[in-house]
Amino acid sequence: MSLSIQNLYKTFNGHVALERIHLDIASSEFVCLLGPSGCGKTTLLRIIAGLLAADGGRISLDGRDLAALPARERGFGIVFQSYSLFPHMTIAQNIGYGLQIRKTPAAAIAERVQELLEVVRLPGFGERYPGQLSGGQQQRVAIARALAVNPSLLLLDEPLSALDARVRVGLRQELREVQQRLGIPTLMVTHDQEEAMSMADKIVCMNAGRIEQVGSPRELYLHPRTRFVADFMGHSNLLPADAAAQLLAEGQPIAPPPAEGMELCVRPEHLRLTPRAGAGGRVVAVSFLGSIQRVQVQWQGRALLVETGSDVALQEGEAVEVALAGVASCAWVRADGKAFA
Ligand code: ATP
Repeated sequence: MSLSIQNLYKTFNGHVALERIHLDIASSEFVCLLGPSGCGKTTLLRIIAGLLAADGGRISLDGRDLAALPARERGFGIVFQSYSLFPHMTIAQNIGYGLQIRKTPAAAIAERVQELLEVVRLPGFGERYPGQLSGGQQQRVAIARALAVNPSLLLLDEPLSALDARVRVGLRQELREVQQRLGIPTLMVTHDQEEAMSMADKIVCMNAGRIEQVGSPRELYLHPRTRFVADFMGHSNLLPADAAAQLLAEGQPIAPPPAEGMELCVRPEHLRLTPRAGAGGRVVAVSFLGSIQRVQVQWQGRALLVETGSDVALQEGEAVEVALAGVASCAWVRADGKAFA
């Protein structure tokens, strides 16, 4: 299976919600659409699902244009943020619903439901009702229901957002395992950068209706192509070229930027602090977080955020030398927010 999106465009009352979207999803891939509220993630997912029509562009599944195909004929599984189970049906009936509509024989439905209850780790829950399950359990049922019909693509719209933190983190892992085991291509919408990083093979980082960058979590984190991606993927210290030139990486000066008007994106954990009287940095605040400590440093007239191992003893007000852990662990981005071609 491969899904291909070309030049997709969508407006709402003249407001552009999606602009020239290009995206490919290959078989077995787990892709996350990541971006802030209002950037167009849900709109894109709904268009792919067939719940909303695009104003332009093309979506094809294995080369076949989907435009004329209504949602129910696309063969996709969908899970929304709210569990949206049918409250008056048992868990087994909920999971088997799609198969029943397709007139699958009762015995085959029962067998498939049992299989899926195992997959989502709810064996023995078939005769209960949704109201008797926790939020996390209900969402696992919603996932099983979406998987029941062997969808060619699984679409997930913030499926874990309504759950409390602990359940959410556990379900991330479970969902990823199920997806990998079944090898089902999946597109998940999330605004949670950590969630996208921990689950996705490929992250599509969106901003204001456009795709800023597509890549593996590692690529987006270590090699952001735009200022927006640098900032959205985690804290970044953005240093103009003259300040970056003052940083030493393993005793080496930083290579100059590839063009004018660029800033160096340096992650907090890539900076090293060494206490030394008379050094150019000064520790402003230290917050101890157990395995690491987060240190605010005033350096060259600017505020830096640094993460170090908590074994390094640092005092507020102390003079520190600031250095970069390695030249490879930082990226240049354009200060005006555009992508560097
Ligand atoms: P969130 O995480 O808050 O759901 P999102 O990234 O999913 O955000 P969308 O819901 O896709 O964003 O919305 C993209 C833009 O389109 C927003 O500016 C939104 O206000 C607008 N929009 C979405 N649906 C409609 C609609 N039915 N009518 C008018 N405007 C809409």
